[in-house]
Amino acid sequence: CSSRQNPQDFHEAPHKLSSIKKVIGVVSGKGGVGKSMTSALMAVEMRRRGYGVGILDADITGPSIPKLFGIHGRAMGDENGIWPIESRMGIDVMSINLLLEHEEDPVVWRGPVIAGAVKQFWQDVIWKDVDFLFVDMPPGTGDVPLTVFQTLPVDGIIVVASPQELVSMIVGKAVKMAQMMNIPILGVVENMSYVECPDCGKQIKVFGESHVDEVAAKYNIPVLAKCPIDPKLAECADQGLIEVYGGQYLNAAADAVQALLK
Ligand code: ADP
Repeated sequence: CSSRQNPQDFHEAPHKLSSIKKVIGVVSGKGGVGKSMTSALMAVEMRRRGYGVGILDADITGPSIPKLFGIHGRAMGDENGIWPIESRMGIDVMSINLLLEHEEDPVVWRGPVIAGAVKQFWQDVIWKDVDFLFVDMPPGTGDVPLTVFQTLPVDGIIVVASPQELVSMIVGKAVKMAQMMNIPILGVVENMSYVECPDCGKQIKVFGESHVDEVAAKYNIPVLAKCPIDPKLAECADQGLIEVYGGQYLNAAADAVQALLK
């Protein structure tokens, strides 16, 4: 006999015009480690593979998805619901920044209001023909991400961490949260793992040796990628041109996501 309730019981239904096959949550222990970057690059890779893709920017207090794609417009609503904005490649994006009058306006909301906004992004936004909806989660494993997980039927989680963090603790917390929700962890993406010398190609471990392999082995989850700090990536991101970035570091992560459809 288990006292754990079935989390499926709590999930909200998406908009009646939405068609979403798989929902992938991208989580991190704290801000600034590259969670949004990973969400965006994963979406781009799945789009390149020919899938219908959406990104739900649930990082309400630090929304950075629209900027990565160079999207500055206002999302339109009509009697049916709210329509996401399409990126150049045809990725559907919804973010609080697309609803604010001025995108620089800070969002100073308390947890339940933030969770309510994410719920609306799920219930009131029309996600048409989306094979993979990437959810850029609020950072951490606190109340807000937990509520989001209870609202959305997440099919798999990708954990993003950087080598300078206490990776063991972050992965451990993510694993516990995922177990509580009965959601599989697809694996860990280590970001900012090294810098490659442009002259000799040597990898410099700016933040010291990585512990991600041993931590992942401890929890029996795969390491999906070790992404370098790449000035080209930062440049593309700053210019809103994430879709033209050519790095292929997330291929294994994309394979793991693609496998969810089989
Ligand atoms: P988070 O979503 O975890 O808060 P972001 O994805 O917004 O973090 O990344 C934080 C900053 O670091 C951004 O300015 C981004 O452009 C930069 N960044 C992230 N990953 C890399 C990388 N691998 N190479 C270069 N810059 C990166």
